[in-house]
Order: sequence, then structure tokens, then C-alpha cells
Amino acid sequence: MHAAQQSAPTRRATRAIRLGPYLIGGGNPIRVQSMCNTDTRDAAATLAQIERLAEAGCEIVRLAVIDERAAAALPAIVAASPVPLVADIHFDHRLAVMAAEAGIKGLRINPGNIGGEDKVDTVVAAARHHGLPIRIGVNSGSVEKALLARFGGPTPEAMVESALHHVAMLEKRGFHEIKISLKSSSVMDTIAAYRLMAARADYPLHIGVTEAGTLLRGSVKSAVGLGVLLAEGIGDTLRVSLTHDPVAEMDVAYEILRSLNIRARGPEIVSCPTCGRTEIDLIRLANAVEERLRTVPEVFKVAVMGCVVNGPGEAREADIGIAGGRGKAVIFRKGEVVKSLRGGYDELLAGFMDELELFLSQ
Ligand code: SF4
Repeated sequence: MHAAQQSAPTRRATRAIRLGPYLIGGGNPIRVQSMCNTDTRDAAATLAQIERLAEAGCEIVRLAVIDERAAAALPAIVAASPVPLVADIHFDHRLAVMAAEAGIKGLRINPGNIGGEDKVDTVVAAARHHGLPIRIGVNSGSVEKALLARFGGPTPEAMVESALHHVAMLEKRGFHEIKISLKSSSVMDTIAAYRLMAARADYPLHIGVTEAGTLLRGSVKSAVGLGVLLAEGIGDTLRVSLTHDPVAEMDVAYEILRSLNIRARGPEIVSCPTCGRTEIDLIRLANAVEERLRTVPEVFKVAVMGCVVNGPGEAREADIGIAGGRGKAVIFRKGEVVKSLRGGYDELLAGFMDELELFLSQ
């Protein structure tokens, strides 16, 4: 007997804001974001990365706009981008205005850091005129000195106070198209900060663990931090930050969402951990199947199992699967064997790939 699938966690109630084609928050789908690590001044390289990100499932891409040349590259990038873009700006309100005029769909800027009330007026007027939301993004490393002194360091409370200070500057101007992020490289601080904020404001939250690290460590830290928050219904957009090609963030982000039954993109690949019964190079086989399916967006379940006796039964819910033994393998669908294969690793792989192509074409 298999238990019924658990439903996705109940989402925290938030306002909805618009970011390009999406409504964010208010129970709308949790959107997957990333950030280019190209030089925005190089429009061709940036666009190439945006296209790779979009193909891998990225729905919102943020670009660092560090100077006027970067801002001047935005119109060309925006015009060709398949996904809405957010301009990440520190300190210089003129860049925010240029980005808004270039057709960017959101701003990430902290109004308390741009040098005065008149400059905040200018940015808010531009955001309002172009219908853009503003993300307030507080990182543990960017908390103001006074708050560090008051709270004894970049504590979750200090991060929340910092963000609310920036938020108040927008609210004072009647501006509520706001999203908030509170990222720390500490998983526990990140979780604590978002929980505090969720209790204090109803703006949508962009969640992430910052400076999480390299592919393996960053993925684990992000999965733990984001997983806890999402399981509590917190989070309206998310980013997995890796010290890696940002395209790799997509697989991790969607696996986190899939694990919590929130959203699925692409096939789920279940593979057994191998054991003393395994008589086939299962690790290589599972990786080959994963590689073939990397860019397939359809949602279904594939199983790659290590023995013909237990494999199909263990992967009963798989839409299609292979279970290998010494010199043979069976292909099964929903736990029922539909075909037998004979040969070495190469023959078994080829036989399964043929069947997989057939399945994909149906
Ligand atoms: Fe072992 Fe077979 Fe289970 Fe794989 S499917 S872990 S080989 S019993």
C-alpha cells in the first residue's frame, strides 16, 4: 500500500504584486529566479546566459547594473530577453531611472542607501510610472552600523529592522509594490529572519540563503533553508545561490519545490542507492538517463533500479523505468515489466534510451 500524496504546504497570505507577466505573492505560483554573473555591459554574453537560464526553467533574471554603461546596455538586453528582468542597483538612483526607462520589470534597490529623500522620490516616481515593484534586499553583510550596535551584530532581528526601515521609506510615499528578502549565509539566521518578517509584514518574500557555497554545499544549505521556509508556507519567489554556473541553480530550485509538492518541472528521476544485489553499473546508467532528460520540461517519473527482482516493485509509481541485472535488464511501466533486454552496459543503455525516446514522443 502506498500512502496518498501529501498536499503542498499552505501558503502564508500576502499581498500580490506584479512583476512583468507574473503576479507574485497572494497565493500565486512561487517563481524561480537567478542572477547573471556576466558583465551586464556585455549585452551579448548576458543575453546568452539569460537564454540558458530561461531554457533551464528560470522565470525571473536579475542583472547587476553597476554603472551607466551597464544601464545603457539594458534596452538591447530587455528587448531580446525571454523572461522579465530585474535591475540590481546599489547607491545610484540615476541607474534605477535608466533601468526603468529601459523596460526592466523590477528594481532591487534599498532606498535608505541612495543618498536622500529627494532621490527616493525620484526612484519611486520612476517605479510608479513604469509599473515596477521594488525589492528591498537586506543581506547579513549589509545591515547598517547603528542596527549592528543595537542588536549586537547582524542578527535576524537586525536584518528585519533594517528591511522595515527601507520599507517605511516606500510606504511613506504610498508605494506598496514591495518584495522583501533577508538573506544570510547562516541557514538558521535566514530561517529566523524570514519567520520574523512573515509575522510583521504581509509583503511577498523572496527567499534564499546567500553565499551558500559551491555546488554540493550550496545546494544542501539552500535545500535545508528554503525547504524549512517553504514547508511553513513562507516564500513567494526563490533563488538558490551557488558559486557555480547559475544554470545549475535551476535543477536545485525545482527539486526543492518538487520535494514539497509545490511545483514540478521536468521528469523526476528515482534511482536506487545500489546494494550488494546490484549487478550493473547503475550509477553510470542513472547519470546517463539524467543527462538525456536534462532539458525535458514535461513532468513524469523515471526509475533506474539496480535489480530485476526488486527494482520494478520498488519503483511502482514510475511511468517508465529500467531495472538492470548481469547481462540483462527489464523495462517496466508502473511496476509492470513490458520488455526484456540482453547485453552489456552499452546495449542495455541503448535499449532503454530507445524506449525512453518512444515514451517521450507519445
Ligand atoms: Fe538493491 Fe535492487 Fe533495491 Fe537497488 S533496487 S537497492 S539493487 S534491492
